Amino acid sequence: MRKKIVAGNWKMNLDLQEGVALAKELNEALAADKPNCDVVICTPFIHLASVAPVLDCNLIGLGAENCADKEKGAYTGEVSAKMVKSTGAQYVILGHSERREYYKETPEILKEKVLLALANGLKVIFCIGESLEEREANKQNEVVKAELEGSVFNLSAEDFAKIVIAYEPIWAIGTGKTATAEQAEEIHAYIRGCVAEKYGAEVAENTSILYGGSCKASNAPELFAKPDIDGGLIGGASLKCADFKGIIDAWKK
Ligand code: PEP
Repeated sequence: MRKKIVAGNWKMNLDLQEGVALAKELNEALAADKPNCDVVICTPFIHLASVAPVLDCNLIGLGAENCADKEKGAYTGEVSAKMVKSTGAQYVILGHSERREYYKETPEILKEKVLLALANGLKVIFCIGESLEEREANKQNEVVKAELEGSVFNLSAEDFAKIVIAYEPIWAIGTGKTATAEQAEEIHAYIRGCVAEKYGAEVAENTSILYGGSCKASNAPELFAKPDIDGGLIGGASLKCADFKGIIDAWKK
């Protein structure tokens, strides 16, 4: 049975003290009211080592928002997958549309990052999704398939099992515009079909596919009720404990 997951992506928000305080608050809230799903928070690099000890790892997983495409060496300012892992983190987000767009991360670069993350024992939350222009041209299916083929379909079935896919339509990220549950289910089912075609039905059935893009407590229950939506990757609404917990609680409805 595939995992139900709600993952937060803090992005470049919260200073260290604010981040640690939020992690503590969330840990306390989930200790008092146990979640019905896996919960992960992905934080800026500098928060990881301070957030790790305040989390009960049975309640909340920890992840980075990126890692380098090189193993080690003279790459000033970069943070390797090994360094991320050494903080106690278990996950890394790769392929986020903001990294693809603003930092020009290509499918080839992402392929390297994915390989290094897996080689260092990290699970990868791999983001895919189309722009508004591509959706309007009805190209969403070919876009997400190409993103999978470009960076993760080179993996063995054993390694692919360590990948969580996050479908995030770019037009819905931080815009307040959510894909309807029907739109999201349609493309999630298509993505699962692509995985089945490549790795077989069993691997596809076991792959968690998260929805991301203006997901909040009010729309999460409808999205999570769909058979191919296994949870959410949450940006803005992961920055306040009550908002994030509201989404986690959608799995109890
Ligand atoms: C994201 O960037 O991963 C995301 C889903 O953002 P938001 O929830 O703010 O739309």
